[in-house]
Amino acid sequence: MDLFEKCQRFLNDPEFAASIGYPTNPRAAMEQGLYPYFIPLDETDGTTLSIAGRRLVMIGSNNYLGLTTDPRVRRAAIEAVERYGTSCTGSRFLNGTLALHRELEERLAEYVGMERAIVFSTGYQANVGAISALIGRNDVVVCDKEDHASIVDGCRLSLGRMVRYRHNEIDDLDRALARCPGDAGRLVVVDGVFSMGGDISPLDEVTECCRRHGARLLVDDAHGIGVMGGGRGTAAEFGVTESVDLIMGTFSKALASVGGFVAGDEAAIHWIQHRARSLIFSTSLPPASTAAALAALDVVESEPERVERVNAIAGRMRRQYRNLGFDVGESATPIVPILVGDGLETLKLWRALFDAGVYTNAVLPPAVPDGKALLRTSYMATHTSGQLDEVLQAFSEVGAPGAGGR
Ligand code: PMP
Repeated sequence: MDLFEKCQRFLNDPEFAASIGYPTNPRAAMEQGLYPYFIPLDETDGTTLSIAGRRLVMIGSNNYLGLTTDPRVRRAAIEAVERYGTSCTGSRFLNGTLALHRELEERLAEYVGMERAIVFSTGYQANVGAISALIGRNDVVVCDKEDHASIVDGCRLSLGRMVRYRHNEIDDLDRALARCPGDAGRLVVVDGVFSMGGDISPLDEVTECCRRHGARLLVDDAHGIGVMGGGRGTAAEFGVTESVDLIMGTFSKALASVGGFVAGDEAAIHWIQHRARSLIFSTSLPPASTAAALAALDVVESEPERVERVNAIAGRMRRQYRNLGFDVGESATPIVPILVGDGLETLKLWRALFDAGVYTNAVLPPAVPDGKALLRTSYMATHTSGQLDEVLQAFSEVGAPGAGGR
């Protein structure tokens, strides 16, 4: 059989697409105006964007504090290009470490309450590199079923065994850890804030469970840094930083840049920076991105009211969506999912909102389990009340799924 046959069939054949978990084939979705992916934005100022001459309100971005267009962050990126050029053209391990990287690492370690940090070129690489570096042949890594794909990929690349427990069910985590062989090293990995549901890992219970079983804990706080715990993350929110071994974060969300980091004690970070292949065999974070993350961190520390505002906005939106009959699940953060269930129904809701001037993200199988499709909405400290009113007006006109609105 030709290797590329599946590519043709995926594009053109609805039955084949369904057989690998998609609601329909991409070509049919495009023809029906129900293809929500890879849409080029012509312009964006953060909270609004334009596509083909139409203005939409953005509620589909991870720019939680609205800092991607902040003049201080822009200026820092521009100055870094002027000073260091456009690329480091080498790995952190060799010629690609700048004083700027070290400065960012020191600031981050202090900010999240750890001894040391190491900066990677993306958050994805941070998870893949750190987990695969730590988990050896006889070790076990235990993950929440809703952990991010980069965690799953890090586990797959490692030589050890991956076990998954039911989402946020600490009894199930306890059972999984109890079943690990006595001599196995154990690492538990959770998202501090889950990226689709916007719910939180109960880190008070997770840390206690890890302690009982002698397991180490890595918290992926991609969506918690700059948002939870006054900005310092989900471990700070729960007051359990001392019981967390490693905190991972990204700059691609609240910190208005791209890149990621892992923070922990000196020896663990040293091990990771010598053993993480995604760090050693990939070019380091460019100067502009490093400087932007540093400048964003300055703003987060000096303007805590932004962190408060994004959380207040999310609280208001959750209440109003519930009043309109939408199901927002267990969201407790600026990520507010609209749970729909059926994939095609989700695409229709996405399109109706798009036509009404609201940009959301449709999240469909296989990214979520079958029957769990949702629209992911997320908020920024810089959304104006007027923009949020526009969004709510659109949701109210479009109507909740099953409420006869469409
Ligand atoms: N972890 C989580 C929970 C994420 O949501 C993401 C990005 N969506 C990542 C890791 C990867 O981060 P990055 O985009 O910086 O590669």
